[in-house]
Order: sequence, then C-alpha cells, then structure tokens
Amino acid sequence: AKSAGGNRFELADPEADARAITRHGLTTALPTALERGEFFIEYQPLVHLGDGSVRGAEALVRWLHPQHGVLGPDRFIPLAEHTGLIVPLGRWVLEQSVRQAREWRELQGGAEAVGPLRINVNLSPCQLTHPGLVQDTVDILERTGIEPDALCLEVTESALIGADDDLLKPLRRLAEMGVDIALDDFGTGYSNLANLRRLPVSILKLDRSFTQSMQQFPADPVDLKIVEGIVSLAHSLDLAVTVEGVETGAQAEQLRILGCDTAQGWYYARPGPPERLHELALVDATG
Ligand code: C2E
Ligand code: CA
Ligand code: CA
Ligand code: CA
Repeated sequence: AKSAGGNRFELADPEADARAITRHGLTTALPTALERGEFFIEYQPLVHLGDGSVRGAEALVRWLHPQHGVLGPDRFIPLAEHTGLIVPLGRWVLEQSVRQAREWRELQGGAEAVGPLRINVNLSPCQLTHPGLVQDTVDILERTGIEPDALCLEVTESALIGADDDLLKPLRRLAEMGVDIALDDFGTGYSNLANLRRLPVSILKLDRSFTQSMQQFPADPVDLKIVEGIVSLAHSLDLAVTVEGVETGAQAEQLRILGCDTAQGWYYARPGPPERLHELALVDATG
C-alpha cells in the first residue's frame, strides 16, 4: 500500500499487498472449504518418556487449498477465529479426531499393553466462550462411544490468563466428566504459577522454547534448573508434564532425566496420516 501523509513516504510493498490479497481470499474461501471437505487432520504421536511407548496423538488440522496446496494452521486458524468459522471447524476437528481414536481402538483389538490410544485436540479461545462447547463435546463422545478420559483438550496458557469463573466453568464441567485439560504452550504466558491451582487442568505442555534450550548436552545449568522447578511444581500439583518440539535424542534424554512424562516432536515422528500413527503404536506394542 502507498501513502503520502505529510512528509512520510512509504514504499509500495508488493509482497505485503499479495499477502493481504491472499488473506482476504482465504478468509472468504473458508466457509466453502469446510463444506467441500478441504480440511484434513494429521496426527503426531505422544510418547511416554519412560518406556518410549506411543500413548496417543495430537490432532493438527491442515487445509488442502485447491490453488495454494496444503496450508498449515498458522495460515488460517487466526482467520477462522476472526470470522467465527472456528466454532464449526473446531467441532469438525473434534468429531473427526474422536472417530479416529475409536478406529485405532478397534484396530488395536484387545492386544493393547498400555491402554487405548488417547487423542489430544486443540481448542481455540473462541470455542471456550461458545455456549455449545460442553454439549457438543458430550454429543460427540456419546455418538462415538469413546470414554471422556480418552480425550484431552489443549488450551493455551494465554487463553486462560486472568480467566474468570465464567470462562472456566465449561472446562470444569468437562474435567469433572473425565476429559483431560492440558495447558498448551506453557511457559510463554508469564502466568502466575500459583494460579495453576485454580485451573481445571491435569497436564502441562511445556513450550518448545524449553526443549530448544536443551539442545546442548549438558544444557545450560540455569535452563535445567528452570525446567526442573516447573516439573517438580507440576508434579506436586498432580499435573503430568508433556514436552513438545523434541527433535533430538539428547533433548529427549535430558527431559526424561528432568522427570517429564510425555514427549512429542520430530525425533519421534512428524505429524502424519492416521495409518502412520497406528503403525507406530503397533510396532511399539509388539516390541
Ligand atoms: P501447537 O498446538 O503448539 O502444536 C504444535 C506445533 O508444533 C505443530 O505445528 C507441530 O507440527 C509442530 N511441531 C511438532 N513437533 C515439532 C518439532 O519437533 N519441531 C518443531 N519445530 N515443530 C514441531 P502446526 O501443525 O503447524 O500447528 C500450529 C498451531 O496451530 C498449533 O500449535 C495449534 O496452536 C494450532 N492448531 C493446529 N490444529 C488446530 C486445531 O484443530 N484447532 C485450533 N484451534 N488450533 C489448531
Ligand atoms: Ca497443541
Ligand atoms: Ca503447544
Ligand atoms: Ca505452539
């Protein structure tokens, strides 16, 4: 865009213009994309750090756009949040993911050593304030025949900072039913650690930045102390700790030694189609 207000001259930025046009185009295409079935979900395994077994997966949505190819969630989730489409889109992701979890369960048969695979689904702050959240979730679980404790909803730390009771009520209801609530991207939001006690969460997902600080072996002693402190606080509050963004064996080992429970990252597997997750879990269960 060009503007010449007073003495200021801005250079035209064709790339910024193109980005704005794409953003506009994507926003208007979103509702039909949902109707046309252009969204799909990839699953990334959640691995137990103690024994390396696959315990579940996080569902990550993608958009197969007819012109632009596969778009990651960072390209369209903010647009969907802005337009409100995130509510039906989020409901679709939840239903698909829970159905997928049931399918894995059927494939697992009775042979599972570590219990049925669990499914983690991201919730946007807009879904939290939507009055249908609890009922929609109950309906989906009932339709699918999956127990609430096989489902974990991930909510970002920033969405819950300063949350009042109205915002927490639906999460409490879900937690009472047995649905796990995970605090996603933990450590990025500067929330008061004492605040954790009033949140209905049972899992902390340590942000990738902590994992990145474990790149060297041994890691920076201060970083180690910070993670150690968070893990011991979490455990003392009966919260499990999941780490994300694990890219190397050295990171996995240090995080395991620090007491983290579950890990996720490219070291184990990139997000992929549901068959891949099932294969990984199966290989794992048979040794
Ligand atoms: P997130 O919930 O923090 O998800 C983790 C992101 O880290 C994913 O990016 C995943 O592909 C990526 N990742 C996993 N392992 C590694 C690793 O070892 N190294 C690195 N560098 N990255 C790794 P993705 O799939 O692009 O998703 C981005 C964000 O979009 C997610 O961040 C989540 O906030 C949001 N998102 C994804 N699916 C949904 C959804 O269905 N609903 C909502 N509301 N948000 C979603
Ligand atoms: Ca997440
Ligand atoms: Ca995260
Ligand atoms: Ca993140």
